[in-house]
Formats: sequence, structure tokens, C-alpha cells
Amino acid sequence: MIANTGLLEQLRATLRPYGAQLIAVSKTKSKEAILEVVATGQKAFGENYVQELLDKQALLPAEIEWHFIGHLQTNKVKYIAPFIHCIHSIDSQRLLVEIDKQAMKFGRIIPCLLQVHIAQEETKFGLSFDEARAILDDPKTTLLKHVRIIGCMGMASNTDSAEIVRKEFRELKSFLDAVSISHPDMVELSMGMSSDYKLALEEGSTMIRIGSSIFGERSYSPVP
Ligand SMILES: *Cc1c(COP(=O)(O)O)cnc(C)c1O
Repeated sequence: MIANTGLLEQLRATLRPYGAQLIAVSKTKSKEAILEVVATGQKAFGENYVQELLDKQALLPAEIEWHFIGHLQTNKVKYIAPFIHCIHSIDSQRLLVEIDKQAMKFGRIIPCLLQVHIAQEETKFGLSFDEARAILDDPKTTLLKHVRIIGCMGMASNTDSAEIVRKEFRELKSFLDAVSISHPDMVELSMGMSSDYKLALEEGSTMIRIGSSIFGERSYSPVP
């Protein structure tokens, strides 16, 4: 046994009352480990790197719903457009335009989330609240018929302070609630990882992205 499948059951039980979805983050993990998790009934998996995702997607069961959660370069969109279930990491309108163009070629509408920078650290990707709102309100965005912006993704600060993490999640939830008045498709909130998913659930998360708790610690990170 590679993956912690017992913990998966526990996680699902925790998520159930909140109606939140579990995304198993399988970056750097083997196909064998992923298959073990698939065998427990898990369908949604998250990956951060395009090449790694393509290698796995080609060999793993077609019923897996792949979520892209890492930084996505526009020149790589074409490779994942045929099958990607949801893209959590939209950080520019240019990226949306490219996804729309590629999705059109396959007759698809790809669900996307705007990645908003809510953490204190400078290194994480993402839009400011103002930038996210500007993208949503831009008439050019409305013209994109092959992407559907269904919510926001955010990563809280890497800190021991539950107070700071909670405040950051709460700000993202408030933002979603505010924009959903004029953008009713905006309903999903992708927030919470192994270290902070309980806080995220309490603050309104609808999609939890869990890696290390399910698969164990990652021993290496491939170059993106
Ligand atoms: C790796 C990753 C996760 C999972 O993190 P864990 O701490 O391993 O649960 C979630 N979201 C994103 C964007 C990630 O890159």
C-alpha cells in the first residue's frame, strides 16, 4: 500500500457535511499510487505540471477527472485542452483567451477558477481581488464562449497562525459572495490543503486540494 486509503475515508466523512469535493493532489506521485486511490472511488485528481499530467493521463483510466492546479503557461494549454476537467489557476485574461481558443477546437467548455493571491508571501502566483474583478467585468471575458469561470482558488499563507489563515480564506469567500451577485456562475471556492483544509471548510470551501495527507510527503519536485 502506497497511499493512505484509510485516511481518505476519514477525509470524505469530514467533507460530507460541508458538501465539499475532494481533489486528490497527485503531483510527483506514481501511477500505482494513483490507481490505489482510484480504487477507493476517488475520481478527481489534481496535477501541477503539464508534462507530468500528460504522461499520467495517457496511462490512467479515462474516468479520472483531471484538475490543473499549477501555474499554466499559455503555450501549453493546447496539450491539456482535449481532456482537462477544470483549471484552478487562471492568473491572466490572456490565459483565458488561449483556453477559450483551444477548447473551441475540441467543442468543449472548460470550467475555470480565478486564482487569487491571498497569502502574505510574495512567491505565490495569483491575481489581486481588483484584477480578478476586472477580468470578470471585462466585456471581452463575456465573449469567451468556451470557458466558464465558476469560482476562485486561493492558497493561504504558510504559517502556524490559524487566525491569519482563517482571515485570508474569509476574504476570498467574501470576494466570491460579492462578485457572484453579478456573476451567478461564480459558486466554487477551491481552498484548503493538507495543513489547513479544516479551516477552509469552516470558511466556505467547496473544493479541498489534498496531497501529502493522502499520498505521503513528496520527496522531490520536478521542474515546472
Ligand atoms: C501541492 C498542492 C496542493 C496539495 O498540498 P498538500 O499540502 O500536499 O496537501 C494543493 N494545492 C496546490 C496548488 C498545490 O500545488
